[in-house]
Amino acid sequence: MANILIVDDSRTSRRILRGVLEGEGYEIIGEASNGQEGYDMYVQYKPDLVTMDITMPVMDGIQSLKKIKAEFPDAKVIMVTAAGQKHNLIEAVQSGAADFIPKPFDVEQIKSTIIKVLDL
Ligand SMILES: [Mg+2]
Repeated sequence: MANILIVDDSRTSRRILRGVLEGEGYEIIGEASNGQEGYDMYVQYKPDLVTMDITMPVMDGIQSLKKIKAEFPDAKVIMVTAAGQKHNLIEAVQSGAADFIPKPFDVEQIKSTIIKVLDL
């Protein structure tokens, strides 16, 4: 089963994602609370997939995505997005994001997006 890294500054968001993904049998290899920590954990663990929040302190999700993709072009990074982030979405696509999961979370949408991206 795939290993997944969760990057989000919201403890609640991390808890929800972990619950849904572990329920589907995935292993959560780590949780990071900002983009720099997320990048560092990516380098350390090379997870099969990353869920990446956009708005975070220290380093946001777009910058973290760019750093990861610059070094690991095959990395699969799904952006977690809140309403009103259209500008960020365009930049994320151009930077190599694999897909998006919108907040507030929809459990079925999380599951189907993860399956789709792991299959790419
Ligand atoms: Mg956030």
